[in-house]
Amino acid sequence: MAKHMNVEKIAKSMSTLDIHDYGDVLQCMRCGSCLPYCPTYRTDGIETQSPRGRVAMIKAVIDGRLTPEEEFARHMYHCLDCRNCQTVCPAGVKVGELVLEARHRIEQHTPQPLLKRFILESAIRDQTKLSRYLSPLRLYQNLGIQRLVRRSHILQSLSSDLDFMESLLPRLPDRPLIDTIPEIIPAAGQEKGKVGFFLGCAMNLVFADISRDTIHCLTQAGYTVIVPKSQQCCGTPNIAEGERKIYREMAEHNVSLFERHDVDAIVSDCAACGMELKSYRETLAPVTRASKRAEMFSGKVKDISEFLVSAFGPHSDFGSLGEKVCFHDPCHLRHGQNLVSPQRELLRRIPDLFLVDVPDEGQCCGSAGIYNITHRERSMKILEAKIAAIDKTGADRVITSNPGCLMQLQFAREQWKKSWSLSHISQVIRMSLEHKEA
Ligand code: SF4
Ligand code: SF4
Repeated sequence: MAKHMNVEKIAKSMSTLDIHDYGDVLQCMRCGSCLPYCPTYRTDGIETQSPRGRVAMIKAVIDGRLTPEEEFARHMYHCLDCRNCQTVCPAGVKVGELVLEARHRIEQHTPQPLLKRFILESAIRDQTKLSRYLSPLRLYQNLGIQRLVRRSHILQSLSSDLDFMESLLPRLPDRPLIDTIPEIIPAAGQEKGKVGFFLGCAMNLVFADISRDTIHCLTQAGYTVIVPKSQQCCGTPNIAEGERKIYREMAEHNVSLFERHDVDAIVSDCAACGMELKSYRETLAPVTRASKRAEMFSGKVKDISEFLVSAFGPHSDFGSLGEKVCFHDPCHLRHGQNLVSPQRELLRRIPDLFLVDVPDEGQCCGSAGIYNITHRERSMKILEAKIAAIDKTGADRVITSNPGCLMQLQFAREQWKKSWSLSHISQVIRMSLEHKEA
């Protein structure tokens, strides 16, 4: 947590929150409609852990009634930025976004730990470098050390935190996807158009096979897929941690890079990346030279379900999959991009696939970037509630579309020995297409 904060500068910066954000604060009529939907209010049951409480704290700092000390900073980092409150707020208060703005103002006037700076300002900018940093973990898995460590439970006795982080680690691919595919992958059959594929860091480095399936689905839908090799992180980790300078540089880089390709859409199979790429139109708006271009860029961004549902069309020829499934909506898809129906519509087109809803109205799984590491206890409570809701569906398979959710749900599946399997939606669409071909 933040140390040596320059409280005066933070207070001054907060007092200059622009009128749009301040207007949002003023719009809160304290109705409480958001409370039952906020995961931290559901776990803690106290006002300061609610969207309404967070708005009140921010307003108190803006008005000079509350000093933005460590306690305030801590509260800003308790929020998961799940944006469920934004979906339900009748006044349109953007609590999640306000919290990120507050984090930014805190971060600007607080020395940041070296490791955090290294990750957000350097490592994250280059996926080749990021991949190199993962080499020891690949060796750890490939040499069988992970199996021994897990069997012996040795980490449990050394450090519970380390043991927990290790148990979250999925199987890593030997090489990042970007190194194994050409920049242009032609459409299968008659070309309907061209799409750019935004390959997020986690998908590239951790879930490479899933993004390979995404590309397969896109080419089968008749699109040539262009994967610009030098794309950078979308900036989600930076914006979540209050860092904006490198964020803007990476965003501008991505906008320029995709501009060079004449594509109909820019597709993402990571809900968090998709939300961030769509928000470039707002986050780059103050950068005059980039604002119009960012608007164009964001206007083309589509989540994979959003794109495939129209690319395949209502009479798509999917193969049968006789399973009962449920879809866990990533927060950054359902609340961040307001996408609820495309993923359901797409899955309902698969013959014999019986889709049921998770009865929790889009609650977070508790992953939220690194929230499960930084706020482990609360994250686990949130996850337990999510798993209880999933179990009520009786689904054979849980489907989602975000790497953080995949890791968190996979952790729950293994720890609590769940019988359901877990897939990204691209894997399910690919399976269905292959069943048709077989
Ligand atoms: S729902 Fe909106 S207006 Fe009502 S208390 Fe929550 S943030 Fe305020
Ligand atoms: S973004 Fe999520 S965690 Fe944060 S206040 Fe809103 S509902 Fe609560």
